Amino acid sequence: MNTAVSDIEVIKAKKTKIHDVDFDHLSFGSTFSDHMLECNYKDGKWQAPKVVPYQPITLDPSAKIFHYGQSVFEGMKAYKDAKNDIYLFRPLDNWKRLNISSKRLAIPEVPESYFMEGLKTLLKLDSEWIPKKEGSSLYIRPFIFATGKGFHASPANEYKFIIACAPSGAYFAGKVKVLIEETYSRSANGGVGFAKAGGNYAGQFYPTQLAVEKGYQQVIWTDDNTHEYIEEAGAMNIFIRINDTLITGPTSDRILDGITRKSIIELAKAEGIAVEVRKISVHEVVAAAKNGSLKEMFGAGTAAVISPISGFGYHGEDFDIPELENTYASLMKKRITDIQTNKCEDPFGWRF
Ligand code: PMP
Repeated sequence: MNTAVSDIEVIKAKKTKIHDVDFDHLSFGSTFSDHMLECNYKDGKWQAPKVVPYQPITLDPSAKIFHYGQSVFEGMKAYKDAKNDIYLFRPLDNWKRLNISSKRLAIPEVPESYFMEGLKTLLKLDSEWIPKKEGSSLYIRPFIFATGKGFHASPANEYKFIIACAPSGAYFAGKVKVLIEETYSRSANGGVGFAKAGGNYAGQFYPTQLAVEKGYQQVIWTDDNTHEYIEEAGAMNIFIRINDTLITGPTSDRILDGITRKSIIELAKAEGIAVEVRKISVHEVVAAAKNGSLKEMFGAGTAAVISPISGFGYHGEDFDIPELENTYASLMKKRITDIQTNKCEDPFGWRF
């Protein structure tokens, strides 16, 4: 699909909100830039995208998003280097994954040019919103949802694709203590776990609340069938270091094909670290924690880049992961963020 977008119409905001923003104290994803990309699907095709002022949208109460949750999203970031040049990290992978998610939710796929040209137009206009402070970036949220009307449980005939941006500081502060889930699941074979479908996240909230009440910050998802295998960490992929080997589960119907995950696999191999992509059981991790070979666990995803785990709870018992000086987590975080922010060569061709 390669529909050409020569000129994207731009309707500028009358007044910028940027002076109200404290860029030194940004939380994650709660302040929004002046503009957004908007593109509507109707009459069987995506209409011309436009950049418009960031604003509320009006929907019919019967819009299918409200009833059947037909929605997908992406998460990506824009960075600025010392020269104020703007960079994205593997953006075509986000476009591809958005369409993989859409297909599973019976949502029409968005042409590459609408996504990429729309994003470039939006970022040029809102470039002042891309923070330069270390660890900060402009979080970008592309999303599509069913606006078509009707209570009939069937795919909508109209959709809206929006890209909105939020200048953001670090996602998680410090290490997190996690609970290995033994009851609930975020995904199942044949389901939608591999898609960034809105409902996947709604389904995570309640089990996560229960874990928080017990004193943990996140849930480690296990396979839906046996709860014996480690799958993801909250809304992140997971890496486990046993002795000097870095292990992560293979992607599947149930595990999101994370861009950070696949970048870490390549970066770690380039560093000479032994990487194993294989199923890893809770039993193996508990045994490693007991015999001292469990060196690190960390979540990996766009928002936090890497979120180190300090310990985990399982079956009523807590296990701590002792502090380590030179962690793979900090090395991987440095390698990724240096590439993202143009502080080093990019032998992989990931920087855009
Ligand atoms: N798993 C899930 C369930 C996610 O929602 C995400 C992204 N938020 C990830 C993993 C990490 O993916 P990425 O590295 O592409 O951000």
